[in-house]
Formats: sequence, C-alpha cells, structure tokens
Amino acid sequence: SLKGRTAIVTGSNSGIGLGAAEELARAGADVVINSITDRPEDHALAEKLAAAHGVSVRYLQADMSKPDECRALIERAGGCDILVNNAGIQHVAAIEAFPTEKWDAILAINLSSAFHTTAAALPGMREKGWGRIVNIASAHGLTASPYKSAYVAAKHGLVGFTKVTALETAGQGVTCNAICPGYVLTPLVEAQIPDQMKAHGMDRETVIREVMLDRQPSKQFATTSQMGGTVVFLCSAHADQITGTTISVDGGWTAL
Ligand code: NAD
Repeated sequence: SLKGRTAIVTGSNSGIGLGAAEELARAGADVVINSITDRPEDHALAEKLAAAHGVSVRYLQADMSKPDECRALIERAGGCDILVNNAGIQHVAAIEAFPTEKWDAILAINLSSAFHTTAAALPGMREKGWGRIVNIASAHGLTASPYKSAYVAAKHGLVGFTKVTALETAGQGVTCNAICPGYVLTPLVEAQIPDQMKAHGMDRETVIREVMLDRQPSKQFATTSQMGGTVVFLCSAHADQITGTTISVDGGWTAL
C-alpha cells in the first residue's frame, strides 16, 4: 500500500495522467493532480477522486512550459514521495515546415518540465531515503516516426534524463524509470476516430486496426488504467531495484 505517500502527477486532468492519479489513489497514496487550466471541474475532479478512494486529493494549477511554475508546483505541494512527469503535447509537421514555437513548447513541456520538477523534488526524497520518479515517455522515446521531430526528440531526451536521474540517486532509496506507452485510448485519441473513418472511408474497426494501430502488433489499444497500474508497480517494493530503465506498454510496437 502507498498509504502515507504523496504523489504529484503533472498534466493529470485527463488521459494517462488521470489514469495514473486514479491508480495511485486506489493504492492509498495522497495525490496532487495538475494541469494548465483552473476550472471548477478541475477541482471537482480532485474531490471526486478523494471521495472514491478515501485519500487526500488536491488540484494545483501550474503551466509545465514555465520553469518557475514547475518548481513552484513541487513546493506548493509540500514536496512529494512519488513524482510522475506526464504532461505532454504533440504537433505533427515536416521539419522544414515545423513552427519554431511548437518545437520550443514541445521541448519545454515534454522534456524540460521533468528536469525542473525532478530538481525540486529530489532533495526531499533524499532526506526521507525514499522516492519514486516515473517519466511518461513513449514508444517514440525508443523509435521514430516521420513528421514528429520535436516529440521524438523530446521523448528520447526524457529517456536519457531518466537514466541520469537513476545514476545520481542509485543506492539512496530513490528510483527513476520511464514508461513507454504505445497507442493508448485516451479521450484525445477517441476523438480522432470519426475523422480517421471519414478520411479513409473505413468503418471504426478497420480504421483502428489498419490505420491507428498499424504499428501496434497486438491491434489493441493500451488503456489509461494499465498505465496507472504500471506506475503503481514501479512504486512497489517489488521494483526497488528497477531503476534507470524503460518499461514498454505498447502491444509489441518496439519488438517489431
Ligand atoms: P492528454 O492530452 O489527455 O493529457 C495531457 C495532459 O497534459 C492533460 O492533462 C493536459 O491538460 C496536460 N497539459 C498539457 N499542456 C500542459 C501544460 N503546459 N502544463 C500543464 N499541463 C499540461 O494526452 P495523453 O494521451 O494522456 O498524454 C499524456 C502523456 O502520455 C503525454 O506525455 C504523452 O506524450 C504520453 N503518451 C501518450 C500516448 C497516447 O497514445 N495517448 C502514447 C505515448 C505517450
């Protein structure tokens, strides 16, 4: 059980981050959820999670593209035992047409935010002699696709940063690993299905199999709760000696 532990999950008002927050709460951790927005429904989500699992859940707004806000998030939370760096965005374009501001935003949110939160969280973890850092990378942290230059560069960078964090904390009760999801069925991905069906003139099943899961040999989406379950495993005592590595949850994508 993660009772008495505090987890911060960046970018967690939807998708994989929310799945991680839910599974951490189910395992007994107190959780801080975060996103860039500050809407009543964000705070309501925290209350709902807290009530469902009998743990403390707070919503803290912070923009993960801003170094100061990344560091302040950790401080406002009062430090953390578990840090899940999950916030991420995507943009798809050829290199010579890739907008500079999109490149900068993807590098800031998908990569640099993890550096800032980790730097702010590590002193407290070292002091307690226990900590877990889980970076949500991607199959694109291990392989590439055309037109995703910034995303692939940031996710490869995040895998590298994961290894350095593991080396600097080895033997101190702190571990750092990256999860590399393949295609996960999040609301964002679900919303793309109707457009893809229209664009390819295919029914739902065919467009999922032939287009969206083209590179995922299982031909099945991974789920947000499977991602959350993998985070919880990495926080368990079974994973004490797992550090500096990647766990692919990708239906065989990177085995191809
Ligand atoms: P999502 O859009 O549902 O979640 C992204 C989260 O990040 C949201 O909560 C969003 O509000 C937040 N966010 C975006 N910009 C932010 C900012 N500046 N500051 C704070 N929060 C911000 O998408 P998702 O699919 O759940 O993605 C979560 C992570 O998983 C990302 O890092 C993504 O790259 C990674 N991932 C997703 C998939 C997939 O198939 N869905 C596959 C591999 C990796």
